Amino acid sequence: MIKDFVRKRSINVCLVNTGGCNGCDIEVVSCLAPKYDIEQYGIYVHNNPREADVLVVTGPVTGAWEKRLLEIYEKTPEPKIVIAVGACALSGGIFKEGHIHGPVDSVIPVDAKLPGCPPRPSEIISAVVAIAPDALAAKEKLLNQKLKEEKNKAKV
Ligand code: SF4
Repeated sequence: MIKDFVRKRSINVCLVNTGGCNGCDIEVVSCLAPKYDIEQYGIYVHNNPREADVLVVTGPVTGAWEKRLLEIYEKTPEPKIVIAVGACALSGGIFKEGHIHGPVDSVIPVDAKLPGCPPRPSEIISAVVAIAPDALAAKEKLLNQKLKEEKNKAKV
């Protein structure tokens, strides 16, 4: 209950690299540095899909990553918002001619796409902030529904 209350007004982002060069990931991690300080917007980056509101997916989805990406998507609670970040995630990028199983939207549903090789941290923050109201609204609805169900159970 307390956890749900605290999380109601924050966006938890899980970063998933599906086999890229790490360039995009470095830019995502840069968002945490004092220069950008993404946490000032109530956005927290970690690698736990079970706690995530938004999946930020980088990389072209290699063969080894296809099943894992699907598993991560399954583990992510609703609203399961996905942002594909970087050229590799969007189209295969420099790995397009290789043995990839992506791009990301051919494996899981994607809500927003951010091009670039890599995109700048400011662009990544803008993409997450743009999608945050939808994520918060969907999360609030789900949490209220959960609360209602718990209250009804307690009455029985
Ligand atoms: S889009 Fe560019 S920086 Fe990002 S993973 Fe692909 S090659 Fe690396």
